[in-house]
Amino acid sequence: MSRTWLHRWQLKTAAGVTRICGRLFSANGDRYDLVVIGGGSGGLACAKEAAGLGAQVAVLDYVVPSVQGSSWGLGGTCVNVGCIPKKLMHHAALLGEGIRDSRSYGWKVEEERPELVWSQLLSTVQGHIKSLNWGHRVQLKDKNVTYLNAKGKLLDRHTISALNMKGEVTEVKASNIVLATGTRPKIPDIPGAAEHCITSDDLFMLRKPPGKTLVVGASYVGLECAGFLTGLGFDTSLLIRSIPLRGFDQDMARLIVRNMERHGTVVHHNSIPVKVERLDDGRLDVVWQHTNQNEGGLERGVFQDVFDTVLVATGRGPDSKALGLDAVSVETDVESGKVIVDERDETTVPHIFCIGDAADGRPELTPVAIKAGKLLSRRLFGNSTHNMDYNNIPTTVFTPMEYGCVGLSTEKAINQFGSENIETYHAFYHPLELTIPPERENQLEDHYIKTVCVREGNDDRVVGIHFLGPNAGEVIQGFAVAMRAPGGLPMSQITSTIGIHPTNAEEVVKLYITKSSGRDPVVTGC
Ligand code: FAD
Ligand code: NDP
Repeated sequence: MSRTWLHRWQLKTAAGVTRICGRLFSANGDRYDLVVIGGGSGGLACAKEAAGLGAQVAVLDYVVPSVQGSSWGLGGTCVNVGCIPKKLMHHAALLGEGIRDSRSYGWKVEEERPELVWSQLLSTVQGHIKSLNWGHRVQLKDKNVTYLNAKGKLLDRHTISALNMKGEVTEVKASNIVLATGTRPKIPDIPGAAEHCITSDDLFMLRKPPGKTLVVGASYVGLECAGFLTGLGFDTSLLIRSIPLRGFDQDMARLIVRNMERHGTVVHHNSIPVKVERLDDGRLDVVWQHTNQNEGGLERGVFQDVFDTVLVATGRGPDSKALGLDAVSVETDVESGKVIVDERDETTVPHIFCIGDAADGRPELTPVAIKAGKLLSRRLFGNSTHNMDYNNIPTTVFTPMEYGCVGLSTEKAINQFGSENIETYHAFYHPLELTIPPERENQLEDHYIKTVCVREGNDDRVVGIHFLGPNAGEVIQGFAVAMRAPGGLPMSQITSTIGIHPTNAEEVVKLYITKSSGRDPVVTGC
C-alpha cells in the first residue's frame, strides 16, 4: 500500500489572512511521477492507467459552483452535468413517448398523457450520479492514487499549488503534469443572462420542474436539452442564431430540427436573445431579435415571450487563467483560450501535457478524453509510442430522433475532395416500430441515412456515414469499427453485407440509390 505524507505550516498573506499551507510528498519521496489537474473523464482515466503501470500519481479535482450555485462531486462534466444525466433524461422522455405508443400495441394506459413527476426523475438521476462519484473515489483509492479535492494552479514547471475549500494551500511536486480541466458553459453577454438564466450545469439538479422553457443555442447541448424537455412534457422553445449543429452535415441537421418541430418544440430560426428580465411573479420576460428585421414581431423583428426557465447553451470554454499557465509559459489559443498541444498531447512546455476538452482542436467527447488519457499514460510509463488517432471519431446527438455519424459531412467531403469526386448513397426509411402508432405518422418521413463516398475506380470509398433514427449511437458504433479498416471502407463492403431483419441498421447495408441518379430516395417494405 502506497503512503503519502503532508508537512504543514501557517502563512500570513499580505491581506493578513492566516493560511494553512503544506507540502504533499509522494510515497517514494519528494515528487509524484504524475499529477493530474482535473478529475473528469480524461484526468481519471489518465491517472488510473498511470497508477496501474506503477507510477506514483495524484489527482486534483475541484468544482467551482455555477453562477446559479450548482456544484457536484468527483467525475467531471460527463458524470455530473453532461452525458450521464442527459442520456437518462433523454431515455425518460423516450419512455414517456413509449407509454403513449404502447396503446397502439394493445396496452391499456388510462391517462391520455402520462404525467412526469420531476422530483422523482431528479432523485433517480442524482442517485445514480452519487453512486458514480463514489465509484470513482473507490477506484482511485484501490489504485493508490492520491486524491485532493482542491483547485490546482501551476507555480512553476514542476510545482502545483492545491487550494482546498477551507482555503488551505498544499504544494505538490511532479515530474509530469497533465492538465485535464475541461470546459464550462459560456453565458451570453446580454442584460439579465447571468442573473436569471441557467446552463446545463444547473438543469440536471433543478429542484423545481423547469416549466415553460426557452433554450438558447442550437448545437449538441441546446438541441438535446430542448428535445428531452419537450419529450418530458414541458412547453419548450428553441432559439437558433444561424444554422443548427454547425460543423455537422447540414442535410441531417435540417431534418433533426424539422423533426423536433413536428415533435413539439417551438423553433425560432435566425433569432438572438436581447434581454431577460425577472417579473414580479418570478417568471422570465425574454426579448429576442430576428436577424431579418422585416420578419414582423413587436417592431422590426423584435419578439417577446414569458418563460419559467431560460437555459443558455451557447458554447463552452476553459478557465485557463485560473490554472496559472502564463507563469510557466504554457501557450493557449487566442480565440478558444484552450491549451495548445502537439500530436503527443504535450504543451509548449516539456513534461506538461493537456488532454480532453481543455486541449485546443480536440473533439469535446468523453471517449476521446478517456482514450487520450490512457494512451498518454502508456507513453509516459509503459514504453508505448502510440499516439491518439483523432480521425473517424463517431458521435451521436441524442435528440428525440437520434443522429449518429462517423467520418466526414458532405460539406467537408466536398471541401476536401471536390464535389465532382463525391457520390452519396441515401434513403428515407420508416422505422417499423414507429409505423404502428398513429401519433408518430407526422414524424416518419424524417428518418434518413446516407453514406458520403469518394469515387475511386470501380468502387466508392466511404468517408462518412450518417444515420437518423432510433438507437443511432448503437447503430453507428459498429460502422465506426468498419471505417477504421486499413485502406478504408469500400461501399461494396457495406452493400455486400447481409442485413439483420427487421432492424433500422439494415437500412444502411440496403442503401443503393445514389444522389447522382436523381431517383427518389424513399424506400419502403423489405
Ligand atoms: P471534464 O469532464 O469537464 O473534467 C474536468 C474536471 O476538472 C472537472 O471536474 C473540473 O471541475 C475540474 N477542474 C477544472 N479546473 C480545475 C482546477 N484548476 N483544479 C482542479 N480541478 C479542476 N460527450 C460524449 O461523448 N457523449 C455525450 O453524450 C455527451 N453529452 C454531453 C452533454 C452535456 C450537457 C455536456 C455539457 C457535455 C457532454 N459531452 C458528451 C461532453 C463530455 O462531457 C466532455 O467531452 C468530457 O466530460 C470531457 O472530459 P474532460 O476530462 O476533458 O473534462
Ligand atoms: P457549441 O459551441 O457546439 O454550440 C454553441 C451554440 O450556441 C451554437 O448553436 C451557436 O450558434 C450558439 N450561440 C453561441 N453564442 C450565442 C449567442 N450569443 N446567442 C445565441 N446563440 C449563440 O456548444 P455546445 O455547448 O452545444 O457543445 C459543446 C461541446 O460539448 C460539443 O462540441 C460536443 O463535443 C460536446 N457535447 C457532446 C454531446 C454528445 O456527444 N452527444 C452532447 C453535448 C455536448 P452559431 O452556430 O450561430 O455560432
